[in-house]
Amino acid sequence: MIQEGKASEAVEQGSELYQFDEEFRNSISTVDESGHRVWLYPKKPSGTYHNRRIVVTVILLALFFAGPFIQIGGRPILLLNFFERKFVVFGQAFWPQDFVLLALTLITFFVFVILFTVVFGRLWCGWACPQTLFMEMVFRKIEYWIEGDANQQRRLDRMPWNTEKITKKGFKQLLFLLLSIIIAHIAMAYLIGKDQALAIVQESPSEHVGGFMGMVAFTGIFYSVFAYFREQACVVVCPYGRLQGVLLIKDSIVVAYDWLRGEPRGRRRKASAEAPKTGDCIDCKLCVHVCPTGIDIRNGTQLECVNCTACMDACDDIMVKINKPKGLIRYASYNSIKNGIQLLFTPRVIGYSVVLLALITILSFTLATRSDVETTVLKVPGTLFQRTDDGFFTNLYTIEFVNKTFDPLQLKVKVESPSTATLVLPEGSDILLPAEGLMKRMCFIKLPADAISEARTIVIIGVYQEDRLLEKVKVKFVGPVKSSR
Ligand code: SF4
Ligand code: SF4
Repeated sequence: MIQEGKASEAVEQGSELYQFDEEFRNSISTVDESGHRVWLYPKKPSGTYHNRRIVVTVILLALFFAGPFIQIGGRPILLLNFFERKFVVFGQAFWPQDFVLLALTLITFFVFVILFTVVFGRLWCGWACPQTLFMEMVFRKIEYWIEGDANQQRRLDRMPWNTEKITKKGFKQLLFLLLSIIIAHIAMAYLIGKDQALAIVQESPSEHVGGFMGMVAFTGIFYSVFAYFREQACVVVCPYGRLQGVLLIKDSIVVAYDWLRGEPRGRRRKASAEAPKTGDCIDCKLCVHVCPTGIDIRNGTQLECVNCTACMDACDDIMVKINKPKGLIRYASYNSIKNGIQLLFTPRVIGYSVVLLALITILSFTLATRSDVETTVLKVPGTLFQRTDDGFFTNLYTIEFVNKTFDPLQLKVKVESPSTATLVLPEGSDILLPAEGLMKRMCFIKLPADAISEARTIVIIGVYQEDRLLEKVKVKFVGPVKSSR
């Protein structure tokens, strides 16, 4: 997104053309000129927005920790078992066979993310992203509690390794590690289910080598991200952050500095004829000091900004102190600052909304008509059709059933059309399909010779649970062409 940046040299109010110091775009605040990491010491945030974020964080983290234990009809509310390729969302099971549904869900989700970002910018990052919640609202708070605010942290880091430093650093790292272990266990519970995760905790690691290694790996990842990698996850790794440049438009609502009101920035001086006229920004740099990604929001929207609102609170605090209205840094779009009009329904937003609505309709229809059973009928490879003595032709198939429900199902299969076709299951016609299970059977389809008019005849098979038709499957019956009989 094109956003006017630091109006450090000259400001021509109301004009598109500002003279900006664009130097900040050539580097990131967390890496110095020699390429080394610059460790950030953001000042402790406080204020109205921060308090609201605390409330939201408590609710979201409570949901995250309780998630694996919440059940709907005896099933987890969310299970993403990639290892066994089994997924449960709001108590509904999904299998690899639900590929179309999965693809539709993903496309719908991406369109939703695009629409949400176009309208509200990175609201998700600041208020709901697990990385920001854990980093800023949990790990960083522990750090403030043990090591103090930014200046005290700097002082501690510069100290030699004396008792105070060893105690504080050791205690902090211990808490970080313990928290990482807890988060790793919860994350694993979402992947393998709470019962398996509990078994890994309660039983010897030798009985769950894979699971134990998974826990150790997750703990290592969480610990290194929150103890060391920190804001780098948002600044250099997160793909959503990278996409901001193409998703944001000039009407997107983001954390923005009101350059028209703030510039030219400068210290407040007593009003006099000689004193230069300054805007509301007193250049105290508090907004920079509180920023967890180390940027200066006065330079304009940057992809490092995770919309954490810390700079809004810091600046509001200053505005109150200097008797100016709050909101010099606020949720606003570029256009709303420049023109004073906040447009929500731009053509792009309307376009994305229409696409999203269409996708949601298709997805809901697909979900509502989804069968409890997935049946696949395949001709046994290498077999030819057979002619029987009583004038029929037969083909041999494998019929595979996948039970997508959590209950066993009693199934029956029969031919729907053509009426002359017969389906024979040599192992018996009653099929008891175990819960969440898969079953394969061999079957013959028989057709009288005079019902075959072409090399491939389409046979429709119906799969029933009692008298309820669950699904119809199309099968190709291979037979001789008339001239060769
Ligand atoms: S906190 Fe507000 S007044 Fe201080 S430098 Fe930032 S924008 Fe200017
Ligand atoms: S610029 Fe403001 S909202 Fe963006 S990350 Fe920094 S402090 Fe948070």
